Amino acid sequence: MPAPKGRGLAFGGKTQINIHLATHLKIFSKVLATLVFLIGFFAVLGWQFEIDIFKKVAPSLPVIAPNTACSFVLIGLFLFFLNWTKENHKFMRSLVSFLSILIAILGMLTLIEYIFRLNFGIDRLFFARKMGTDIVRMSPQSALNFLLVGMALSFYSSKEKKHVFWGQIAIVAAGIMALVSLFGFIYGVAGLYTIAPYKGMAAHTAIAFVLTFLGILMLRPETGLVRIFASRGLSGMAARRLLAALLSILVIEILVMLGAKTGFYSFSYEALVHLLIVTGVFIFLIFYSFRSLDRLAEAEKSLEHLKEVDRAKTDFVSLASHQLRTPLTSVSWYSEMLLRHEVGPLNPKQKEYLDEVYAQNRRMIDLVDDLLNSSRIDMGMLNIEPRKTDLKIVLGSALDEIDPLVREKKIDLEKNIAENLPAVETDPEMIRIIFQNLISNAVKYTPEGGKVKVALSPVGSHLEFKVADTGYGITKSQQNRVFTKMFRADNIRSKVTDGTGLGLYIAKAIAKELGGKLHFDSEENKGTTFFLELPVRFHR
Ligand code: ADP
Repeated sequence: MPAPKGRGLAFGGKTQINIHLATHLKIFSKVLATLVFLIGFFAVLGWQFEIDIFKKVAPSLPVIAPNTACSFVLIGLFLFFLNWTKENHKFMRSLVSFLSILIAILGMLTLIEYIFRLNFGIDRLFFARKMGTDIVRMSPQSALNFLLVGMALSFYSSKEKKHVFWGQIAIVAAGIMALVSLFGFIYGVAGLYTIAPYKGMAAHTAIAFVLTFLGILMLRPETGLVRIFASRGLSGMAARRLLAALLSILVIEILVMLGAKTGFYSFSYEALVHLLIVTGVFIFLIFYSFRSLDRLAEAEKSLEHLKEVDRAKTDFVSLASHQLRTPLTSVSWYSEMLLRHEVGPLNPKQKEYLDEVYAQNRRMIDLVDDLLNSSRIDMGMLNIEPRKTDLKIVLGSALDEIDPLVREKKIDLEKNIAENLPAVETDPEMIRIIFQNLISNAVKYTPEGGKVKVALSPVGSHLEFKVADTGYGITKSQQNRVFTKMFRADNIRSKVTDGTGLGLYIAKAIAKELGGKLHFDSEENKGTTFFLELPVRFHR
């Protein structure tokens, strides 16, 4: 038996992400992006309208360079955009990636200017007139930071986890440098934000870099280095609490230092406060944080137990359906033989009853098949066996099967199968399940006399299958639940009582397993169209 992949199960082997927390972090990332944008924007205003306070926070501190200000405006926008845009929006993401590289190049060129004592003229790209004859070049640290941030944003524009990981390395390096400069400002150690004899990093530049660092890390909290802070297990909780403890120590230490600097208290008093802070944080960790680890461990154990119960149930459903399948199939065969008059003629009443036995038995077989397939999906054991397949035959048999209902409901069924459709490499049984589910839904959920259109055609290297109906449609508010297990929409429950809500769950899982996409468009009381796009190898 192949090892279950755990797909679809509620609890996977790897630490799960706390979705709620991850969503909040992403929202927070947007806030940080806005702040970075605003810092850049105000600095630009400072240069444009010569407002000194926006160019340097205090008269004794370094001024923000025009290139730095403009880069922050862009970085804020890119960060916000990456947060807001969908992962599959390839064009826009490539554009952001390209523009971010330009920022990295700006940083690199500035560094080259410093190292080789050159002047490319890039420092006078913006506000040259306001600078007069001066050159206000960004500090070497800022240049290196822009190189790293530009690279990080470009890596983050990719969907690939591996790229995001490299982006995280770059942004952590940038973040460390920004923090060092920031602490330099707070503790008044100029050496930390200035490399003599060059211009130092401006205070708001350091702040904007720290915000960028946090914003980029929160952009993908479910990946790589930061995953531990958003994970649901014991490690996640411990990591978050230790981080909270560390941040509280930092903040209080800074406050205490500022207090000492302003001559608020003496050295021995300050030392005592340090001691109290460390003791307080450790007491908090011991009595509050680590005590609750036991409770969490208990919860994890009961989750494990639930997981086993869930598995046992799935196994049971799978076994029971398997056992039911054989007798049901024999009932079907024997009724078919009787209906074909192979053992003698039937009178009209006998035929009527036997038709009913046959139809109800088919329903039961369909139900058992649905149960079997959905438990296979839950156990991650949906076995795909691709082979050379003539889809016209597969689709034909699915259409034949639904024919009695089509006639009964007087549905106008239009078939549009591409004449030149070559054989394809796929799993015929699996694809048949999708065809059958989509077509039978269209017929089932369309009132008498309605229209159903079925189309199958090759489009490039894909196969496109479309089923459109003029039926009851799916209410907008419930459309996001259509592919969930056992979902049946409110608008059809009273009209069509027969249904399990498993068909589309199975169809979607199979489409995904085959590397394809299944989606739909629907309007209530107008109709629904389901689309299946499947990448396939054609036997031409
Ligand atoms: P079932 O048909 O057994 O209820 P499915 O998983 O196939 O289960 O479909 C789930 C639900 O989606 C249906 O109950 C119905 O509410 C809705 N649905 C699916 N296809 C259509 C369609 N063509 N028109 C209207 N509603 C549909």
